[in-house]
This record gives sequence, structure tokens and C-alpha cells, in this order.
Amino acid sequence: MKTVWEKYKDSELKKVQKFSGDYRDFLSLTKTEREFVRETIKLVKQEGFVNLETKKGKLQPGDRVYAVNREKNVCLFVIGQEPLTKGMNILGAHIDSPRLDLKQNPLYEANGLALFDTHYYGGIKKYQWVARPMALHGVVCKKDGSIVNIEIGEKDSDPVVGISDLLIHLAADQMKKTADVVVTGEALNVLVGSIPNKNAKKDPVKTAILKLLEKKYGIKEADFLSAEIEVVPAGKARDYGLDNSMILGYGHDDRVCAYTSLRAILDMKKPKRTSCCILVDKEEIGSVGATGMHSKWFEMVITKLLDKQSEASLVNLNETFSNSMMLSSDVSNAFDPNYPEVCDPNNSAYFGCGIVFNKFTGARGKGGSNDANPEYFAKIRKVMDQEKVQFQTCELGKVDVGGGGTIAYILAQLNMEVIDAGIAVQNMHAPYEVVSKGDVYEGYRAYKAFLEKM
Ligand code: MN
Ligand code: MN
Repeated sequence: MKTVWEKYKDSELKKVQKFSGDYRDFLSLTKTEREFVRETIKLVKQEGFVNLETKKGKLQPGDRVYAVNREKNVCLFVIGQEPLTKGMNILGAHIDSPRLDLKQNPLYEANGLALFDTHYYGGIKKYQWVARPMALHGVVCKKDGSIVNIEIGEKDSDPVVGISDLLIHLAADQMKKTADVVVTGEALNVLVGSIPNKNAKKDPVKTAILKLLEKKYGIKEADFLSAEIEVVPAGKARDYGLDNSMILGYGHDDRVCAYTSLRAILDMKKPKRTSCCILVDKEEIGSVGATGMHSKWFEMVITKLLDKQSEASLVNLNETFSNSMMLSSDVSNAFDPNYPEVCDPNNSAYFGCGIVFNKFTGARGKGGSNDANPEYFAKIRKVMDQEKVQFQTCELGKVDVGGGGTIAYILAQLNMEVIDAGIAVQNMHAPYEVVSKGDVYEGYRAYKAFLEKM
């Protein structure tokens, strides 16, 4: 297959660099689900979106509204010319990424050092998260109702934190272990301080860190009980490759699909069918919780939307979902010449070959997957070809090698057509993942074509 790079004219190459540069900068600002929601709302407000809760009167074609769930989950709509009951065109992506979360009692002192204890979030190779600069992002919620935002390790003047690794000189035993236990979950402890408080009788370094936190952020040790602090790789996303054709960054899975979906819906003016973009939390741990895809929140929002357009009956709600079409916008694995043995070359995604459609995901015989209807994919192929969007299809690795899942099957439960469609990523779930700029651009074009033409 020819790559997009061979097809683009000079004018398009400029657009690819501009678009992917915007994405790279957005990614650097959005390392947690909360930060993604915050930046999304900032952006969509500038583009005329208003909060569904405060929107007055009936919804009209071309109206732009959004809804937010607990600062971690957001839904955007551009109202179509047809009634909602004719169905929506939905783009759904997740905005949580694998990381290390601080435990509820995180801070302790050992051998003259202060450390934070963590519990990892999502599927990670633990050994990848040591000996690298890390930042702390999150919120501390205090009993008085106030919320302290934490972001340490991103500004040039900030310190960073990190997790030590055993020196090679003394690692003879460690080097014999299998990779899944070479670094254990309990060993992922973040070093945060080493200066003792002179007056403390017990745990002088821990005491010093607590004094520092109280002075700088007004938080006490007990406030960690109601905090959500994520330890993530420090630093900005960067151009990757001598030809600047790729982007290296933390959290492409799945913010690359979230951002491109978001940009696609911003381009909708008065679509035929209502455009929807839903960005969810908790996908990496099973789409659980009030802000994950399994939550009833999405159905509640659509009920409200129906109420503001015509009538929010159960019949109308069911009809709206049954007539809807969705792209589950999530990343795929890019074929990696360092590890060709895990992929079937005829059913793999390649960098620079466009957006990736996965008819199914899952593991052990498609278990847990959505497995899209071919009638639906035929319609999508037609639109992609008409709009000259380059696409490819893939499976997540060879049969029996492994697998994975997305939010696709959850929305399909509402009786709508769903297929997985996303951008290929190298080193998925590593602290730094890689995408091709050409694929980022084709992803955006595919999502736009889907909203406009399906
Ligand atoms: Mn994902
Ligand atoms: Mn993932």
C-alpha cells in the first residue's frame, strides 16, 4: 500500500504539519482525563458551544452544545437538520491513559528518603516506568470543599520526581527474572525528598516534605485520603524521526483519537444527522465507574437532548440509539519491524497508511469484541473512498498472541452500528508512544467525513 506521504501535495503537507503540531501541543497540556476535559471545554467555548444545562429554548439545527460529567467525561453535539430520532453519527474516544496513581496513604520515609507509594492504572510493563523523569498531576479535595490542583514537573523551573532502578553492577539476580516480575507493582515507589527537618523526632524527611506541601499547596497528610494524583512522564510531546514525520508523546492512547474526533466535530456547521463526540474516562480499567462508558450518563444526556428537541420518551430514546452509527475511535498497534513475529503482515496497520478500521478486537477467538456488521462497514468504505480518505484494516496481532478491547461493544449494546476506527501507535502503553503525523491527519479527515457524509 502506498503511504499518504507519496500522495500528499505540498499544500497538504503543510496542513499535515500544522494539524499535527496543534495536536502535539494539545497533548503536552493534557496528561490526565481532567486536563483533557478542561482544555476541551476551553476550546469548544471559543467555537460557540454552550452548556446543555444552561441552554434556553428548543434545540435548533446547527446548535452547538456540550455536557460535562464530574470534570472527567465530556459530550459534544452539533444538532442536525433531521430529528434526533433519525439517529446520530457518534465519535467515541477515551481520555484516560495508563499511569501510576498515588495510593491513599502514599507518603512514607525509608532509610532517610521520602517516597510516594503508587498503584498502577491500566496495563503496563512495569519495568518501563523506572529511571525516567516523572511529573505529578491531579487534585487534592479538602474537607472544606475546596480543590487544590497539582501539577509539578512540567515547567522548566519545576523539579521532577521518579522511580529508581537497580544498578546493573548489582543486578545479577534481577537480570535472571522474567520481565513481569523484574520490577514489581509494590516496588514502584516515587522518590520525592531527602532533606530532614532538624526539629522532627520521627521521620524527619517525611516531616520536611509535609511542611513543604502545606506551605506551597495548603494540604495536610490526611488530605491525600481524598486526592487523585497521577504520576506521568514529565515533559512535552516531541517531533520524532529525522524527517519530523512522527510524534513521540505520553498518552497517544487514546488522546490522539480524542483530539482528532474533537477537531472533526468543531468543523460541523449544520450537519444532516446530529454529530456527537463523547470522550470517556476509565477505558483502561474496564470502562467502569460513573465517568466510564458503562455509566448511564450518556443515556441521560441523550434523554435531555430529546427533551430539548421534541419528546424524551423511552420510545424516542430507543429509536435514537437504534438509528445511530458510531466509530469507536481508539488506537491500533502499528506494525513494528523490531517485532514482526507478533503480527500477521496482511492484517496489520502500518505507519503512514491512514486511519485503521478494526472489524473486531478481543482475544482468544474474538472474545469480548464488538465484531462490526459488514453492511455497516461497506457504507463506511463508500464514504471514505468518496472523500479520498486513506484507510487500512488490521487485527491486534496474530491469532492467539494476545488481544485487547475498546468501548465499541458497550455502545453496540444500545443497538447501534459500531466499528473500531483509530490511529496506529508504536509502543502502546509505554511511557512514550509514537504515532505518524500522516495518520493523525487522515484520522481527522476520516472522522470529519463520517460526521458529515454517513
Ligand atoms: Mn485505547
Ligand atoms: Mn489502551
